Amino acid sequence: MSENDFTIVDTDEEKETEEYEKYCSICNRPESVTGKMIELPNNLNVCQECMQKSFDAMANSPVDFSKMGNIPGIQFLNLSDLEGGIPKRQKIKKKKKEDKKPVRKLNIKDIPAPHKIKAQLDEYVVGQDYAKKAMSVAVYNHYKRVLSDTADNIEIEKSNMLMIGPTGSGKTYLVKTLAKLLDVPLAITDATSLTEAGYIGDDIESVVSKLLAAADNDVERAEQGIIFIDEIDKIAKKKNSSQRDVSGESVQQGLLKLLEGSEVEVPVGANSKNAMVPLTTVNTKNILFICGGAFPDLEAIIKERLNNTASMGFNAELKDKYDKDKDLLSKVTVEDLRNFGMIPEFIGRLPIIFSLKGLDKEMLVKILKEPKNAILKQYQKLLALDEVNLMFNDGALEAIAEKAMEKDTGARALRAIIEEFMLDIMYEIPKDDSIGQVVITREYIEGTGGPQIYLRGQEIPLLT
Ligand code: ADP
Repeated sequence: MSENDFTIVDTDEEKETEEYEKYCSICNRPESVTGKMIELPNNLNVCQECMQKSFDAMANSPVDFSKMGNIPGIQFLNLSDLEGGIPKRQKIKKKKKEDKKPVRKLNIKDIPAPHKIKAQLDEYVVGQDYAKKAMSVAVYNHYKRVLSDTADNIEIEKSNMLMIGPTGSGKTYLVKTLAKLLDVPLAITDATSLTEAGYIGDDIESVVSKLLAAADNDVERAEQGIIFIDEIDKIAKKKNSSQRDVSGESVQQGLLKLLEGSEVEVPVGANSKNAMVPLTTVNTKNILFICGGAFPDLEAIIKERLNNTASMGFNAELKDKYDKDKDLLSKVTVEDLRNFGMIPEFIGRLPIIFSLKGLDKEMLVKILKEPKNAILKQYQKLLALDEVNLMFNDGALEAIAEKAMEKDTGARALRAIIEEFMLDIMYEIPKDDSIGQVVITREYIEGTGGPQIYLRGQEIPLLT
């Protein structure tokens, strides 16, 4: 018999022991809780703690166990009773280990040049060209700073950003897209939920613990991540307030050291520190902070400033020049933000300030159909699985955009509107196998008519 005749056979029994957790025959806890088991004959397992306890009990006991018979009412562990271990139905199957994605460490060569970052953002985000450009450059510089050594003592300044733009103009969406294409962890927090430590609400440091969770508790990855703080305008200094401002100015104060870079002790796997959770230290020096907000009254502040300068000297007659200026937000200065209620130290730590435009009808139509994962494309894909071609004519797209404009929540309204009228389509169309194409029309959106339906084999009008 040659050596090759021997093969290792994976018997069913072996497979089972691999798949099922071992249980301690004394305390019944699984191996995942107790740690490595000590294996005894007859399929018995005892955890190290129980084994130790048994030894201790015997060593300290004045009773000579060997001389004891059966005493009524007192049970001794009889190993032979436990033969075969715990029945299978009481065992818990081990969780399958997920294939872990290799953690990609950032490399200076992996960071795309600003024009490439912008090109990628263009695929998802409609319009907002200035914002995309400013962001691409800032992010590129930020990661260059993170990955370059500072041996020559020239420290590149941190590129934290402040984004100003109306609700639903794509602030959060831009940041999410950016984090995804750079493959860095991202935490999104609402500034309104933050309060000064010790008050009801989340501690300021909880933003870092969210980032750590987003990085699967990998501190090194978290330290290169992005934290997006939304609704930052809500923590403006309260005017004429005599009470302690625990959710406004003091949150700005509290954020200062995070924005700048400091060592923060954060709980692992929990939102608040308590005795039960382990702590770890995260350095925020290389974390990119992006703050965003709608800053509702900021336009009035900017207008007032501009009008005041305009009223001096030769231009005095152009006093209402800025009343109809749609792009006022882009003229924002640090001084305006200070007047709004942001403290100078806070603004000072957000050196890149830019604004996003409110979305007009044309942009909303583009958002419906152009981005890589546009809402219409998603519905088209769903119906394509039923071999139905879904189309929207131009009138329908405009009608949806007009409805969204009325709601004044930017692109956010689009999905809700579409979902409302697509429900019937998604319900009715799969019922009938003969339908080959559905064209959504303005009349259908406005409730004055139905969609155009074409049967399979019927000549289908060409629509874009
Ligand atoms: P906010 O500015 O209030 O943070 P969001 O980024 O949350 O707005 O936008 C809400 C949704 O609207 C996003 O999930 C995205 O689908 C869509 N959206 C908003 N702006 C744009 C845009 N410029 N391009 C493409 N989609 C957008």
